[in-house]
Amino acid sequence: MFEPDRVITCIDCGGRAHLNCYAPEDGWAPGDVTVYRCEDCLDAWYLEVPEEIDWERGRPD
Ligand SMILES: [Zn+2]
Repeated sequence: MFEPDRVITCIDCGGRAHLNCYAPEDGWAPGDVTVYRCEDCLDAWYLEVPEEIDWERGRPD
C-alpha cells in the first residue's frame, strides 16, 4: 500500500513540512491529495498521490 512520506522538504523555504492529514479508510489511491504544512513558513502543500507506483519494488506481503 502506498504510504506518503511523513515529512518532506518545503519547496519554498527548505524547511520541514509535515504530513497533515489522515489516510483514507481504504488506503491511499492515485489522485488522492495529501496535505503537508511547513513548520517554518506555515505554507500548506497539496500533493497528489502519483499514478505510477512502483509495485515491483514494494514490500512483498
Ligand atoms: Zn516552508
